[in-house]
Amino acid sequence: MLQQTSPESSGLQFTVPTKSAVDQLAARLEPQSRITVVSDAGVSAASGIPTLRGPGGLWRTHRPEQLATPEAFRRDPTLVWEWYDWRRQQVVACEPNAAHDVLAAWSRRYGGFTVITQNVDGLHERAGTRDVIRFHGSIWELGCWDGCADAPRRWRDNITPFPKLPPPCPYCGGLTRPGVVWFGEPIDDDVISRSLEATDCDLFLTVGTSALVHPAAGLLQEAKARGAFTVEVNLESTPASDLVDLTCTDRPNGSSSTSRVLDAATGASSLRTDSDRL
Ligand SMILES: [Zn+2]
Repeated sequence: MLQQTSPESSGLQFTVPTKSAVDQLAARLEPQSRITVVSDAGVSAASGIPTLRGPGGLWRTHRPEQLATPEAFRRDPTLVWEWYDWRRQQVVACEPNAAHDVLAAWSRRYGGFTVITQNVDGLHERAGTRDVIRFHGSIWELGCWDGCADAPRRWRDNITPFPKLPPPCPYCGGLTRPGVVWFGEPIDDDVISRSLEATDCDLFLTVGTSALVHPAAGLLQEAKARGAFTVEVNLESTPASDLVDLTCTDRPNGSSSTSRVLDAATGASSLRTDSDRL
C-alpha cells in the first residue's frame, strides 16, 4: 500500500538511450490506454513556481516546515496566512507551462486518464486538465478553522490578495484556514481511495518527482503490483529509476525539459497511429 520507499532498496540501473525510451513510452500511448500520471514540483517549477524545498523555499526567515502545520497556524494565523497570500499572488502571476499543456491534451485524448498531483497551485486545472486528484489540497480552497456547521468542508476563493488577513469565515465570522494538507495532517480518505483506484491502469508515469517521495513511491509500487507499465519522466535519472520499467530523460545541449519528453512521446505516438492507418 502507500508506504515510503527507502533509497537503500535501489538495485542495478541501466540506461536506455533517450530516443529509444521516448519511443517505448510512445508505443504505450494507445487511445484506449488507461493512463495515470503523478506530478510534483518539477512540473510547476518550469512555470516559475519556486519549489518549497529548494533555495527559493525560504520566505522571510521561515522555512515551509515552520509555517505549514496546524501548530504554526494556532500560534500565529496571520503569519501563516501572509505566507499563503504571498504564494497565491505568485501563482496568479504564473502560467501553466508546456508540460501542463501536454497533460491537459492527454486528458482529452485518452478516456481513462487521471492526474494525481502533489502541487497545490491549481496549474493543471488552469491548463484544462480533467480528472485532477489533488493529493495535498489546493491553495485556492479555504475551510473554516473551527469547522462551523454552516460551512462546507472546503470552498473555492480566488481573491488575491485578500483585503484582510486572516480572511474571515463567511459562515461564522471566525478564522478560515488554507485548504491544503499540512505537515502532520492525514490525506483525505476519499483522495487516497481515488488515487489507489487510479493505480489500476495500463501506464503509470511519475513526472517531475523523484518517485521516491511519498506518495509517489507507494502509488508506483501499487501500480506495478497491478501490472501497469511504469515510467519516470524527469529531468535526469534518479535513485528511483531502477524501480520503474522505463526512465525518460532529455538533456539536449545540456538543458532539459520534461515537456520535451512528453511532447516527443505524443508526436511519436501520433506518427505511429497515422502509419498504422496507412
Ligand atoms: Zn466558520
